[in-house]
Amino acid sequence: MNTLIVGGGIMGMSIALELAARGDRVTVLEKAVPGAEASSAAAGMLAPQLEAHGAGPALTLGLESRKLYPAWVRRIEQLAGSGTGYRECGVLRFGPPEALAPVYRWQRELGLNVEQRDGALFFPDDHQVEPPRLMRALAGAAAKAGAQVRSGQVHEILPHAVDLGTERLEADAVVVAAGSWTSLVKGARVSPRALQPVRGQLVELHCRLSPFDETRTDGTVYLVSRGDGRVVCGSTMERTGFDKRVTASGIAGILNRAIALAPQLEHAELHSSWAGLRPWTEDELPIIGEGPMPGVHLATGHFRNGILLAPITAALISRRLHGEATGVDINPFRFDRFPT
Ligand SMILES: Cc1cc2nc3c(=O)[nH]c(=O)nc-3n(C[C@H](O)[C@H](O)[C@H](O)COP(=O)(O)OP(=O)(O)OC[C@H]3O[C@@H](n4cnc5c(N)ncnc54)[C@H](O)[C@@H]3O)c2cc1C
Repeated sequence: MNTLIVGGGIMGMSIALELAARGDRVTVLEKAVPGAEASSAAAGMLAPQLEAHGAGPALTLGLESRKLYPAWVRRIEQLAGSGTGYRECGVLRFGPPEALAPVYRWQRELGLNVEQRDGALFFPDDHQVEPPRLMRALAGAAAKAGAQVRSGQVHEILPHAVDLGTERLEADAVVVAAGSWTSLVKGARVSPRALQPVRGQLVELHCRLSPFDETRTDGTVYLVSRGDGRVVCGSTMERTGFDKRVTASGIAGILNRAIALAPQLEHAELHSSWAGLRPWTEDELPIIGEGPMPGVHLATGHFRNGILLAPITAALISRRLHGEATGVDINPFRFDRFPT
C-alpha cells in the first residue's frame, strides 16, 4: 500500500513508522520539519488517570495507549539508537479532600491503580516522556523503517490524492494529521469551529538536585520533574489563534503557581520558555478514522493528550487502512460528529 501523510508531528510520524514497519510505502508531507509544532512543545505527561473526568471513550483510549507505551518507545529507541526520556515516575495530584475523594472512588470502582496520600492522590501508572527527544528518535526510527519525509505544504485533499499547489500526488490512501492546522487544509472538511488551536506556554526550571521524582499538580499548574534537576512547569490554556508568542503574564502566572505548589523551586534557575498550539475539538475527543472522501483518513484533534495517544492512534489508523478490526470502538472519534 502507498500512503501520503499530511503533517510530521507525533501523529504523522507515528503512523508513518507503523505503516513503514508493515512494509507499506509511506511519504510524510511536512510544511516545516518533523516535530516543529505541538509535538516538541508538549510537557510529555502520559497521564490518562490524571486527565480523565470519568469512564468514557477518552479514558479507554488513554489507558490503551499507555499500555502500549513501554514497548513502543523501546522499539523507537532501538531503531533510532537514541533515547526518548520515557520514565515511570507516577503523578501526585494535590487538592482539597472534597475534590479528591470522588476521583479516588470512581477510579477504584473501575479497578484503576490510585493511592491516597496526605492531601493528595498518587497515580503510580501515569508516567512521562521528553517530547523533543521522542520526536527526534521517532523521526529517526520512521526513516530507518523506510518512511520518507518531503518538505511541502499541502493545499488540498482530493480522493486518493493531495495537491501541493505546484504538483498533485496520488496514493492508495491519504492521512491528514495536521494538528491545529487541520481546518485550514481544504477538503479535510473539519470546520474551524470544531477544531481550534489552544495555546500553552511552558517554563523549564533547573535545580541543582532533583526536587522530587514524580510529576506534581494542583490542577492549576503541573510540574514535570525530569529526575535530574530539570522541571518543566505548565501551562496556560489560551485561545489566541495561531499566535505562539510567550507572554509576561503567561509566564508570571505559571511561576507564581509553581512556587506556591513547590516552594523549593523559588531559587531555581529559569532556563527557557516556549509555547505550542494544542489541537482542541469541541467535545475534546480526537478525530480518528475515515474522512470525508474515499481514500482519506484523519488523525487529529488530540488536544492535551496527543503525546499519550500517539501509539494507539497509529495502531488504529494502520488497522483501518489494512481492513482489520480496530479492537477499540472508534465511533466516538468520527470526523462527521461535528457539523461542517
Ligand atoms: C504546552 C503544551 C503541553 C502539552 N502537554 C502534553 C502532555 O503533557 N501530554 C500529552 O499527551 N500531550 C500534551 N500536549 C498535546 C500534544 O502536544 C498534542 O496533542 C500533539 O502534539 C498533537 O500532535 P499532532 O501531530 O497532531 O500535531 P503537531 O505536533 O502540531 O503537528 C502537526 C504538523 O502538521 C504540519 N502541517 C500543518 N499543516 C500542514 C500542511 N497543510 N501541509 C503540510 N504540513 C502541515 C505542521 O507543520 C506540524 O508539524 C501538549 C501540548 C502543548 C501545546
